[in-house]
Amino acid sequence: MSNNFLQHFRHQQQEAAYEKAMDTQCPFCSVQCTMQLLEQREGGRKKYKVLPLKETVSEARLCIKGRNAHQHALHRERILHPMKRVGRHFEQISWDDALHFIKEQFTSIQKQNGNDAVGVYGGGSLTNEEAYLLGKFARVALKTKHIDYNGRYCMSAAASAMSEAFGLDRGITNLVQEIPYSRCIILAGTNIAECQPTLLPYFQKAKENGAFIIALDPRETLTTKLADMHLKVKPGMDAALVNGMLKVILDQNLYDLSFIEERTNGFEELKEHIESLDLNEIAASTGIQREQMERAAVHFATGSTGMVFTARGVEQQTHGHATVRNFLNLILVTGNIGKLGSGYGAVTGQGNGQGGREHGQKADQLPGYRSIEHPEHRKYISKVWGITEEELPGKGVSAYEMIEKMDAEEIKALFIMGSNPLVSTPNANLAESALKKLKFLVVVDMFLSETAKHADLVLPSSSYLEDEGTMTNMEGRVTLRKAARSCPGEVRHDWQILCDVAAQLGKKTYFPFQSAEEIFNELRVASKGGKADYYGITYKRLEKERVFWPCPAPGHPGEGRLFTESFAHEDGKAKFLTVANHKPKEQPNRQFPLYLTTGRVMSHYLTGAQTRRSPALAAREIESFIRIHPSTAKAFHVQNHSLVKVESARGSIQARGLYDESIREDTVFVPFHWGDEQNINKVTYHALDPVCKMPGFKVCAVRIAPVVDLSRN
Ligand code: SF4
Repeated sequence: MSNNFLQHFRHQQQEAAYEKAMDTQCPFCSVQCTMQLLEQREGGRKKYKVLPLKETVSEARLCIKGRNAHQHALHRERILHPMKRVGRHFEQISWDDALHFIKEQFTSIQKQNGNDAVGVYGGGSLTNEEAYLLGKFARVALKTKHIDYNGRYCMSAAASAMSEAFGLDRGITNLVQEIPYSRCIILAGTNIAECQPTLLPYFQKAKENGAFIIALDPRETLTTKLADMHLKVKPGMDAALVNGMLKVILDQNLYDLSFIEERTNGFEELKEHIESLDLNEIAASTGIQREQMERAAVHFATGSTGMVFTARGVEQQTHGHATVRNFLNLILVTGNIGKLGSGYGAVTGQGNGQGGREHGQKADQLPGYRSIEHPEHRKYISKVWGITEEELPGKGVSAYEMIEKMDAEEIKALFIMGSNPLVSTPNANLAESALKKLKFLVVVDMFLSETAKHADLVLPSSSYLEDEGTMTNMEGRVTLRKAARSCPGEVRHDWQILCDVAAQLGKKTYFPFQSAEEIFNELRVASKGGKADYYGITYKRLEKERVFWPCPAPGHPGEGRLFTESFAHEDGKAKFLTVANHKPKEQPNRQFPLYLTTGRVMSHYLTGAQTRRSPALAAREIESFIRIHPSTAKAFHVQNHSLVKVESARGSIQARGLYDESIREDTVFVPFHWGDEQNINKVTYHALDPVCKMPGFKVCAVRIAPVVDLSRN
């Protein structure tokens, strides 16, 4: 009897024992694992069980987050009615009153200060339909140029680097099933074992097949333990380390000249730049010995296939764009792209980090990866939306710059959907001051998040169990997530809320949608001919299969592996870029002598607004912590498990100190899933990458000190 049969049989038995079975999809990361939620009434209470569903990407695996995702969706703290601030409290109001209140406030603020005085702030976990509609809502219903989203803090460096190098940005250039065919894999600033655990078996399989895995990370993680080689690079020095590897490859003639000549531009400039660099200097500045760099470079250049995966560790830097570009240089120099087991992947963190960045939530973007500054693109989208080109606003500013404009009182009202910027924004004390200066703040959320607590009006939105729509995984594979249950209380879907507000503002003809599918059908047309072309994808198709974009026509199979023959630039060639040996803009100094880097833990997601409300997940990591090398801890008089103050030039927090012999002695690590006095983004650095406007979250200078326990005095 096959394992598959046995698994299917057991699954059916378990399903039969429950009264209700709901097929759904995990909302917590871009692997988008599918699952079935089983419900049974026992006495007066309901009990639940989660079973993974077998599909192509996660292969019937679920991590701890997916297994407990329903706990927040069914949580008693869900907001079930619109709520208006009255003094220091919120009072329940009707939807009619809420919509009228929005119209009154937005209209008055825009009349006095111009359309751009109202901003819109979205999220990378919205469905494709809702992300698309939010972009249209900002430009057509509110006529403002100010829209951006929290994905700016997640994927913008990888997105801009891929667009510039390859002419197209799609998370992974290959199918994840190709990972086991790769002979050398670089995992740079990514902790897949804790952030996307269901992908880990692909890497384990690659190892079994003989792959050599190289991990770049200032600290030891479950992912670096899988690697054959761990380069414990100094925080923020990844671009220089790649320059060192490029130098070895060029010096030893290990580059793929025929690939370079046929398929790329700009190699001579790169070569000249790399020849001018000194390997010993790079070794000194990165903290990686020359021999280690040589070994890593030779493995990557001589493997018959090779892949590079980057994530926020190397992307959330003040030169994140250039750093990713240098990893792409490494791929191009070795010809490791466009073939089985060779390519690049940006490991997307947010639930719909890929789809959410394609259809117009970004300040400079229109649906289908069109540009808001390109005359032809503006013309096309204006026509789809039924407005004149003159009516379509221009380019706005990035997420952090929007916060600055709020603080400067240029943006006076804000509509937030699916985001918690008070916890996710670097220099979060400024974000709090900025939100407090707003004349009117609307937050659409499931919970009274740290941000929602500052709102004038909170609108209740649906959870992943209730909201139907499409999502796009890190490979660019589009999937349809059906609603598994109806909305509780007076909760409405995000897309319904956008249509309702637009109607109240007199724009109903532009927002006539009665279902997510109707919105998707408009999105298909809006993306037609764009780089992220969804035209050939329909709900009917998605009932039976997951489809890769670009998919320009109904019969088109979609493109799984990209760049097999040519790149997406007009001449079909990829572009090299020379990258300097960048150093992080903020360096440790006498006042703040340590590097701080931040990241995730396995049981929590982003700002923790959902996972902190899941009892099973919260119990695993109930509070924040600071990982610190014992020698460093002793130097700063910090006891293991005691409370520690972590402070930068911007602010401070308190967290539990945990000794960790595997972390660099000059570096401490704090996760970013908690708010208020444990919100590490009060400490992180807000300077922006000049190209993609990603803030430099991952590297800043801090000092630490024990928190005095007053009860002992
Ligand atoms: Fe899958 Fe990611 Fe959800 Fe874990 S968090 S179950 S890996 S989608």
